[in-house]
Amino acid sequence: MMTRADFARLNDEKLARGETPFVNPRNAASGGLRQLDSRLTRERRLRFFGYTFGAIEGPAVPEDQGARLAWLREMGVPVAAHAEECPDIEAVIQAIARVQAQRPDLPFDIDGVVIKVADGALRERLGDTARGPRWAIAYKFPAEQAMTRMHAITWQVGRTGLVVPVAELDPIYVGGVTISRATLHNPSELRRKDVRVGDTVIVQRAGDVIPEVVGPVLERRPEGTEPVPVPTECPVCGTPLLYGEGDILLRCSNKRACPAQLLAGIIHFVSRGAMDIAGLGEKQIQFFLDKGWISDIPSLYELGRHREAMVNEPGLGQQSVDNILAAIEESKTRPLSRVIIGLGIRFVGEKTSIDLATAFGNLDALAVADEARLQAVPDIGERTAAEIVTWFADDENQTLLERLKAHVNPTLADLEPLGDQFAGQTVVFTGKLETMTREEAEAYVRRHGGTPAGSVSKKTNLVVYGPGAGSKLAKAEQLGVPLMTEAEFCEQYRPLESP
Ligand SMILES: [Zn+2]
Repeated sequence: MMTRADFARLNDEKLARGETPFVNPRNAASGGLRQLDSRLTRERRLRFFGYTFGAIEGPAVPEDQGARLAWLREMGVPVAAHAEECPDIEAVIQAIARVQAQRPDLPFDIDGVVIKVADGALRERLGDTARGPRWAIAYKFPAEQAMTRMHAITWQVGRTGLVVPVAELDPIYVGGVTISRATLHNPSELRRKDVRVGDTVIVQRAGDVIPEVVGPVLERRPEGTEPVPVPTECPVCGTPLLYGEGDILLRCSNKRACPAQLLAGIIHFVSRGAMDIAGLGEKQIQFFLDKGWISDIPSLYELGRHREAMVNEPGLGQQSVDNILAAIEESKTRPLSRVIIGLGIRFVGEKTSIDLATAFGNLDALAVADEARLQAVPDIGERTAAEIVTWFADDENQTLLERLKAHVNPTLADLEPLGDQFAGQTVVFTGKLETMTREEAEAYVRRHGGTPAGSVSKKTNLVVYGPGAGSKLAKAEQLGVPLMTEAEFCEQYRPLESP
């Protein structure tokens, strides 16, 4: 773990070096553990609290939790000061309330407490399930909330034309990060919550979820406020807005020419998850659009024509221009799956893109696939298939694709097999994976001859599970499908060492 003070110091240092600061201590700590160079890990000043031990040779060790903690403390191992032994469940509930009250003042962030049976003999009798011990359970605190003033509502137009009300807030620290904006989701949520400009609002943030406005604090509402009007025209391009999906979502239908959608589409295309073009952020893209140097996604690959003008632009300079052009050039041979993600088809994320790249092998085959053919690809449902067909049927998308194909030459290198450990097998990952991402795990299985799947059936050969695994794990247990924890999987296959 990392203390808030160490986190602040680390971020100060990063900012001083002109680097992007970490979002929260948890990311900084887990990133620190993944460093290959242990000197870099040391710089993060990570700490830990001991709470148990594995195999110990020699001395007899205590069985009860309280005695274990005392023993660890005696051995000089740091132990959390907040652990306490409770005689009954009432005492447990009170202890949770005490920790929750102390939470804002703790030197580190926590998201809950762990409740354990202290008696070693009882633990023995309770035993374990496939998921973990029966004698311990995590209690998560509700999402962290805070109060702040909302000084404006802006309407943000996303990549798919969705128009979303966003609360502009006085900056506030909540759930481990400082936020100054929070979503109000859609016009009907805005009406239901009736938050008004000038209101003090309650905001909450849980885990990695986007911060949201819970509602106004009515006692603090200033005089003369009015309900926030919902725009009838796109705030960016002026196109009349349409309601869709049960009259809940507001949408700008000007797919081609709406500058907000164009900008968001290009940002998505160059993002790390898609074509990963370094050095092109939102500001640069907006600037290049304003200058007329780019006009859409394919025009990125013609940016070199404006090199002279770019180099002469104050604040750009030859070096950074050439870096950007080199990064764009380099992206021409990204894997096919990255190009498919970059197109920005609704519901087509990383996993679906890899499935599509594997199944079709090139853009032309994908472009002519009908819904039945698409749905024959594992894990691609009706809704996604329909979106893909609609996207490729669109005349302007076809033109865009032709122009893009003139520049990019996507590879299938990321799909080539590296081994056959999983030949003919179907593997399901469920729950939260802790040492590898879902994508890494599935890519490993795929590149070793197996098929990662999203649901468990009699045909599943292996289920690998992490914390929070639910119905899929239960179903696997019921069907007698072989199970492995993430740790066991990593131990046996070492996916991170020999990908
Ligand atoms: Zn618009």
